[in-house]
Amino acid sequence: MNAIPPPAASPPMGLIAELTHRCPLQCPYCANPLELARAAGELDTQTWQRVFDEAAAIGVLQCHLTGGEPTARRDIVPIVRRAAELGMYTNLITAGVLLDERSIAELVEAGLEHVQLSFQDVEPANADRIGNFKGGHAKKLEVAALVKAAGLPLTANFVVHRQNAERVPEMIELGTELGAGRIEVASVQYYGWGLTNRAALLPTRAQLDATTETVEEARVRLKGKVVIDYVVPDYYAMRPKSCMGGWARRLITITPRGRVLPCHAAEILPGFDFPSVHEKTLAEIWYSDPAFLRYRGTDWMPEPCRSCDQKEIDWAGCRCQAFQITGDASCTDPACSLSPDHAMMHAVLPESEAPPPAFVYRRIGSNLVGAK
Ligand code: SF4
Ligand code: SF4
Repeated sequence: MNAIPPPAASPPMGLIAELTHRCPLQCPYCANPLELARAAGELDTQTWQRVFDEAAAIGVLQCHLTGGEPTARRDIVPIVRRAAELGMYTNLITAGVLLDERSIAELVEAGLEHVQLSFQDVEPANADRIGNFKGGHAKKLEVAALVKAAGLPLTANFVVHRQNAERVPEMIELGTELGAGRIEVASVQYYGWGLTNRAALLPTRAQLDATTETVEEARVRLKGKVVIDYVVPDYYAMRPKSCMGGWARRLITITPRGRVLPCHAAEILPGFDFPSVHEKTLAEIWYSDPAFLRYRGTDWMPEPCRSCDQKEIDWAGCRCQAFQITGDASCTDPACSLSPDHAMMHAVLPESEAPPPAFVYRRIGSNLVGAK
């Protein structure tokens, strides 16, 4: 491997380890790519542990274990253990349905420090329909109680869209009842399967306004008791989100097969040859790989971003969204009202109360692959 050049960027704060694409649920908004990795292609235990060693060596402080469903890995305990031994804050991002009292105890013993548990709805039948997993919601309620009983901090993540937005008040109530210290009211992000199902998931303006009002009221009422994070759908935004805190600025993502990405959706971008953990160290990748340098900082930005006073706040938004909407990843994110392409975001918004189309459920081996 090549010598490491002097650092030109701060170290990454967090590692997002996508341990597997396997998941018992089939959420139609899953951010995983349409081409899901099969178990045979996943990094093995030793490789993940070696990658964690490399991450800690360059200063990564937080390790977010995600998927797919990370607990579908039989080696989740030794994986957690290595991250914890290296002093990284270990966060399990899970759908919960594979956990039980014993496995939670093993994870705690291995050093797990936080659980983020996702919910599809508060209404059990609709929750199970959205995840296409019977009994899933009831199991998640059990798991939330077990997580709290084990002494772990809990974040309750509610993914909100057109087919459950009416129940945001009850979602916040449920999160509070479960003892979550943080509740995420997270609008679907339209990448991967979410983009495929956009017409079924995009909320109406009336739904969005009601959700915003609910969150604002709850934040005042629950101040000091629970933190409520709220992510608005980009399609209604006036300014883009600071995607991943800026391209290759704070977070580094590793896919189940070992590709290293500046964001989890970046594999959709053409013209990139994203590096692999089998070929380079994380230090080489973070500080000098061309894919990581391409959109880091502000030098690459076009107008209007180049002369905008927000450019070091939102970093021109999301490259993947710019590509998906305009066909050019180096454009201003069209979620920004200053973008010349902003009107393209509004063109797909639902205008009527007509019934949404059926879900295309996420599954490995889907014949959607290649039909992007
Ligand atoms: S969004 Fe749903 S399908 Fe995708 S990984 Fe999470 S629980 Fe599984
Ligand atoms: S013009 Fe660019 S930098 Fe300015 S707010 Fe819009 S996306 Fe951000």
